[in-house]
Amino acid sequence: MAQAALNIVRSSFYADAAQVADILQPEEAVFCFSEASLRQRLGEFTAGFPGDVSFAVKSNPSREVVRALAEAGLNQWDVASVQEMALVHAVQPGAHFHYHNPVKSRREIANAYHKHGCRRFAVDSREEVAKVAEMTGGDRRVELAVRFVLPRDQSNAAHDFSTKFGAAPQTAMALLKDIAQRGFRPVLTFHPGSQSRDPGVYVRHIEAAAQIVEGSGVRVGTLNVGGGFPASYPLSRPAPLATFFTAIAEATTRHFGKGNEPRLECEPGRGLVANSMSLLTRIKLVCSDGDDIFLNDGIYGGLMEFMQVPELQPPYRVIRDGAVLTGRTKPWKVFGPTCDPLDVLPARLDLPEDIRDEDYIEFGTLGAYGIATSTLFNGYGDHAVIPVAEVFNG
Ligand SMILES: *Cc1c(COP(=O)(O)O)cnc(C)c1O
Repeated sequence: MAQAALNIVRSSFYADAAQVADILQPEEAVFCFSEASLRQRLGEFTAGFPGDVSFAVKSNPSREVVRALAEAGLNQWDVASVQEMALVHAVQPGAHFHYHNPVKSRREIANAYHKHGCRRFAVDSREEVAKVAEMTGGDRRVELAVRFVLPRDQSNAAHDFSTKFGAAPQTAMALLKDIAQRGFRPVLTFHPGSQSRDPGVYVRHIEAAAQIVEGSGVRVGTLNVGGGFPASYPLSRPAPLATFFTAIAEATTRHFGKGNEPRLECEPGRGLVANSMSLLTRIKLVCSDGDDIFLNDGIYGGLMEFMQVPELQPPYRVIRDGAVLTGRTKPWKVFGPTCDPLDVLPARLDLPEDIRDEDYIEFGTLGAYGIATSTLFNGYGDHAVIPVAEVFNG
């Protein structure tokens, strides 16, 4: 699309979701996206994190978000698949990728390497090291990032990531040696779990990283501290990002030694995008003799994560005639639009007693794992993304 045309589309944005509801009156659920709030948060990361910042595409693979980040200057992307590389490359031809999914098929490795110029692959097993070596022809520019994991009780995330991926410290040492012997560039990485509220979890991983490097005797130039940075939800209010950045910088110096610190990287998903999108849903039915309401979106759509991790309940508010509806509330049982009885929110929502069908409910803080995990079950879920100046975050 010509740049001029893009600017026209973008300058016609709405003030907020209430205005979208009032003017567009969307029948289908839509995501409202504030590019300004995404840029502001990216600025916090790039100005405050003591190293390089990339974006975990899986948390929000919409073209709007990828384009906004690319235009703001981001050019390193943590990707889970070759499909995500294609998506980013269509927006930013010069993009650099970290293929940090520790399990990849041979063909995926080859496509990443040949078609997308990917030179960074995560591994957590000997078998995967051998596969990457085979499919990249022993190219010495390739970086292999060993993903390690600590015992489970050392994480305190809303979403524990330690049960699927990651090598125990002893295995990580062996993998680093293997990688160095093969002539690849060794990198060390971890993911402390999504929505990690305790800066100490990064500190403990950095301490372990230093021990792994020491125990392996391999020089590691780069330490990637993963994602996991928390966003603010009504039931999960974390410390500011700066607290995490300071803890990470101090722990790196303390455990690796001054002058001997590896280059740091982070790859936030949630912590970067969560506050830049809200989901604008519409009430289809209010059962007046009970306390049931039916929405045009639910757990198979933008609200799946709320189902998986009730602690990540999004903030919400009701909109009627372009304004927020207030007044006495009561707890309502909220169903989604599909014909599956499972399609009900895991907690009742306190909503005004006099809500009615065609009112809107805006759910905030859904920029991460909202549009990303939405399905097309029952024909719903093909969300439009509407640019707004500001989104509601509770
Ligand atoms: C999911 C993921 C991320 C992003 O995690 P958040 O908790 O959303 O920040 C970063 N890196 C890797 C390897 C991941 O799998």
